[in-house]
Amino acid sequence: MKSHIGDAPIRWGIVLSIMSLSLGVHSFPAQQGEKQAVAPQKKLVLDWLAQRDIVERFGKISDAIWSYAELGMQEFKSSKLLADTLEQAGFKVERGLAGMPTCFVASYGSGKPVIGILGEFDALPMISQKGRVPTQSPLVEGAPGHGCGHNAQGAAAAAAAIAVKQAIDKFGIKGTIKVFGSPAEETVISRPYMVRAGLFQDVDAVIDNHGGSSFGTSYGVEGNALYSVVFTFKGKTAHAAGSPWSARSALDAVDIMNVAVNYLREHLFYTERIHYVITEGGEAPNVVPDRASVWYYVRDSDERLADTYDRVVNCAKAGALASGTELVSMRVLTAIHQRHANKAAAELYQKNIELVGMPAWTDEEIAYAKALQKTLGARESGMPARVGSLRDPDRTFVGGGSSDVGEVTLVAPTATIRFPGQVPGAIGHHWSVTSCNFGSTAWKGLNAGAKAMAASAIDLMTVPDELNKLRVEFEAYAKDHPYKSFLPPDATPPLDLNKELMDKYRPRMEAAGYVDWKQ
Ligand SMILES: [Zn+2]
Repeated sequence: MKSHIGDAPIRWGIVLSIMSLSLGVHSFPAQQGEKQAVAPQKKLVLDWLAQRDIVERFGKISDAIWSYAELGMQEFKSSKLLADTLEQAGFKVERGLAGMPTCFVASYGSGKPVIGILGEFDALPMISQKGRVPTQSPLVEGAPGHGCGHNAQGAAAAAAAIAVKQAIDKFGIKGTIKVFGSPAEETVISRPYMVRAGLFQDVDAVIDNHGGSSFGTSYGVEGNALYSVVFTFKGKTAHAAGSPWSARSALDAVDIMNVAVNYLREHLFYTERIHYVITEGGEAPNVVPDRASVWYYVRDSDERLADTYDRVVNCAKAGALASGTELVSMRVLTAIHQRHANKAAAELYQKNIELVGMPAWTDEEIAYAKALQKTLGARESGMPARVGSLRDPDRTFVGGGSSDVGEVTLVAPTATIRFPGQVPGAIGHHWSVTSCNFGSTAWKGLNAGAKAMAASAIDLMTVPDELNKLRVEFEAYAKDHPYKSFLPPDATPPLDLNKELMDKYRPRMEAAGYVDWKQ
């Protein structure tokens, strides 16, 4: 590891020796449940993941992806590192799938059942931060950073799948384990295209994962469905003072559309969320812009989304009509459903979360957590001590954010394992989460997440009754809710997204130093 990545040097030798103690190979701390009997296949994956060199190997992969901090659709190094790691472990890897160069599927084993693990790896703009420094201190000013933890997620998925491979080989387990390398989750782009390309067609169950400060799972309907659309207007340019009467301003069209949408808000259901940024609006005030674009997120429940979106489109048409310009394109970047997480899957994953238990944190890790919490004005509670209990769905749906995992939940029974490692009180999509997604706590957290995922995959592959519970629930739901993509048939993944930003920051981030992941 290059020393200038973080200002707070981590004493890896000490950390690792404590990790190997606290992740002890034969202890399965069912913290909140009964002592669980552990099948030999499951014991093998847990023991394999508990090895000190394995914790270190996938920790370093996570740190390397953290240092690449690549934005959605531009995750070439991150995707390659994960795909290569799986290929070298003996997986068959297909790259560049569903029209996206950074999308891959890695498979091992043969026949049914087919168990999928989702892995993400994209970063967020503007939140560069030195690893494990508890005050704001960008590694590269203005550059992207891993402020959601996707660096640890991709590494956790690969670790879990490779652990399952060890059990397939040793016990001759029938079935296939697949890692779905899923680009651009932050802009919720890849999954609707992956589903459209049929990548999940033969998959019997899916294990999703996300980093956080807790260790738990949940089920039911969560988040909003979403349309991500760029509206572009074409007008006529002229000298803005000399002959403005001969011009037709495309920026006026954008302004009028935005005003119309802002009036519309009052008359939409309370679950809607609509937000926009102007991506193109002219270059100087003295030249009337003849081209302007505005990028909208329109979010609502699955049932209301199409209606809400139609009304926003009418606002765009109104902008064009009033300004005398033309609405030349409505480019749908992505369109997704709400999440419908499978209850039987969540119940199974919860059992394995309890089996694995919360990692033990060192005094140094707790001191860092408290320092970060102090900076943020959060409760100085340190790191969490216990795993969470199974979270029931909220009684009232109030709208909110979105994840393209929603798309997968509608084509295969799916639930998300949230694994720890981030500091409680750290803020998502913020430098504080970039700070704590690097180094020892992230290593332990992703390792715990990988254990819960691998153990769940073993249950699904070796206990037909467990898989059957997920399938029965899923098939009943799917019968009443047949999947139909919100994507227009001509939509394609926006491969140009974030290219300019990465071209600008990549050389500066490389100069600041990438983490060396090689052993
Ligand atoms: Zn995320």
